[in-house]
Amino acid sequence: MELKGKKVLVVGLGRSGMSAARFLRGQGAKVTVSDSRSAAALAKDIPELLEAGIMVEAGGHGLLTFRRQDLIVISPGVPLDTPEVKQVAALGTPVIGELELAFRFLQGKVVAITGSNGKTTTTTLVGKIFEDAGLPTQVGGNIGLPVVELIGADSGETWDVLEVSSFQLETVDEFKPKIAAVLNLTPDHLDRHGTFANYAAAKKRITENQTSDDFLVLNAEDKETQMFAAKTKAQIFWFSGRRPIKQGAFVHGESVVWMPSEGGKAEPVMPVAEIPLKGAHNVENVLAAVTIARLAGISSESIRKTVGEFKAVEHRLELVKTINGVEFYNDSKATNVDATMKALASFSKGVHLILGGKDKDSDYSLLSDLIRERVNFVYTIGSAAEKIERQLAGVAKIESAGILEVAVARAKERAVPGDVVLLAPACSSFDQFENYEHRGREFRRLVLAETKARAGSL
Ligand code: ADP
Repeated sequence: MELKGKKVLVVGLGRSGMSAARFLRGQGAKVTVSDSRSAAALAKDIPELLEAGIMVEAGGHGLLTFRRQDLIVISPGVPLDTPEVKQVAALGTPVIGELELAFRFLQGKVVAITGSNGKTTTTTLVGKIFEDAGLPTQVGGNIGLPVVELIGADSGETWDVLEVSSFQLETVDEFKPKIAAVLNLTPDHLDRHGTFANYAAAKKRITENQTSDDFLVLNAEDKETQMFAAKTKAQIFWFSGRRPIKQGAFVHGESVVWMPSEGGKAEPVMPVAEIPLKGAHNVENVLAAVTIARLAGISSESIRKTVGEFKAVEHRLELVKTINGVEFYNDSKATNVDATMKALASFSKGVHLILGGKDKDSDYSLLSDLIRERVNFVYTIGSAAEKIERQLAGVAKIESAGILEVAVARAKERAVPGDVVLLAPACSSFDQFENYEHRGREFRRLVLAETKARAGSL
């Protein structure tokens, strides 16, 4: 792809937008960036952009800015149906995302991991397994480091391990991972994608350009991801936490087992008991990682060692501390109902559950059965509280805590040894926090606070 002298517009100045703009400029493109936020909100980035010779449009999108471009690079945070984007796309200007842009310049073999939940955990684990096995590896994508940042540091031997979101996949064109994995598919981001069908269609693009030299790893226990098998040209490998499968990784008895091919020789990888992460969902993440790693030729012995030492990624069902026999778990990244269900399924009883934040058109009544079985008290916080209380009325004892500080204080007061205090809010955090990390750090701070704040005095 020749960028020299091309007019390129980057829409949305998030982290990946900034990286894309810098990269494009470095390639000699005439770059403009456009963001709906005000110049004041972008103040920290504008000087750097101007200095690099990048033009900046802040406080909204001008149609003229969009019309004069050879290429539009749209950020994952910007909806594709933004009117200006739609108009120029209809006129024939190519619109791609940062993932697609980067893919055209990457030299290495791409592993792409998607799903509604478990992407970061699995991507981090795969990256570690590859590194520990001595393979040249880079990890990036939705996980933090924008994919364009990986360009130039890889060769044909490198594995570029990428976490990819539905928003990134919505804007691919030639993207063709060597190994793609779809962990699961449950309703999420419906506020952006509109319908579940649109969301699934975006995810499906992960395998759209794959050929018979490539691999597609799918969850055999997830009906929605099973559908991906129908249309792909890639070789399909499955993983299952419940039953033996023909080709892929599964749990059999007490062991994780790898089956290299249909009718092949099954090979034990490791005892399930050696997986240090909590919950059946994390066993699934490990199975996906085992499949990817075996497909890349890494030995079971090496995989076993890395998995056995792997710690929960921060804010993902992470044990903060056990205080007076009460375990405090930070699962701030449980920003949808399915992740909260998985968190609850990881504990048998005595849970004090903190729910709420910003609603994403979710159905919280799906939590009812698990709450009835395992939860002693629900504490609601944030703008979704009222909806949650309505949908869970009669299911559990519910207390409107309003803010996290009150919720933690009340839970601390009530919990007895053997109980679990769990922040798994099933909502995004933007009503009361900067992001889920901020919410998780606050939870940690409140849990570890020396003086037990008494709810009454708050
Ligand atoms: P993602 O990057 O897809 O958001 P994370 O690894 O960050 O995934 O985990 C997000 C949330 O989902 C956390 O609450 C985590 O505990 C939970 N989770 C992790 N793996 C799975 C899985 N396989 N299925 C369902 N929930 C999961």
